[in-house]
Amino acid sequence: MKYIIFNWKSYLNISESMNLSKVVSKLPSTKKYKLISSPNNFYNLTLKSRYPKNIYAAQNVDLHGKGASTGSIDIQDLVSNKIKFCILGHSEVRSNFGETDLIIQKKTDLCLHNKITPIVCIGEPVDIYKSKKTKNYLKKQINKIFKKSNIYNEVILAYEPLWSIGTGLTPKMSEINDILQFLTKILKNYSFKKIKILYGGSVNLSNIKEILSLQKLDGVLVGSASTKPSFIKYFK
Ligand code: PEP
Repeated sequence: MKYIIFNWKSYLNISESMNLSKVVSKLPSTKKYKLISSPNNFYNLTLKSRYPKNIYAAQNVDLHGKGASTGSIDIQDLVSNKIKFCILGHSEVRSNFGETDLIIQKKTDLCLHNKITPIVCIGEPVDIYKSKKTKNYLKKQINKIFKKSNIYNEVILAYEPLWSIGTGLTPKMSEINDILQFLTKILKNYSFKKIKILYGGSVNLSNIKEILSLQKLDGVLVGSASTKPSFIKYFK
């Protein structure tokens, strides 16, 4: 089964998110794909109660819990609203809100402690890619986010090269495969009960088939293309 994560970012308003959720809910159930929608966090509660069978992911969560923390999204809000997944460390959160690997490490632990599966995003900037230092960069990110002494339950790792997000550029299939093999190898140094590796960055209707044909790839994380009903309907 391939994991398909629709990251609607802040592209859509509530009624557009509702319409897309309806499209998702109408797809025949299939063992081929696990579809997870990630709407703007404001809408998760409304959408989940309207489409209870859809699977939703939060776009982030805060370390500061319930109480005097203005602007926070508390983990218990996800738990009580049956949101079972949470994207962490997305590049836009890293750059807009200064989120570091250390914060992502803590949020990963927080999610797992509350039985929420973290979708942890990692990926290299363009200069690192051009200087062929991607593997070393990813290894360092993983090393900061995961602890070798921990036993992790289910974790989803999304490899998203920063130069690919929202640009229309994607690595060659052979490059994705190479990174996939590398990640699989280094993740063996950690204890995961279940680990899935996804690719993200400019996935769309014209490249989805080829990307999903990579045997070892567990799925994709899709941004702007996933806001189109025609893309969602691909997964019927
Ligand atoms: C993303 O936001 O994680 C992403 C992959 O975006 P896009 O598909 O638009 O490149």
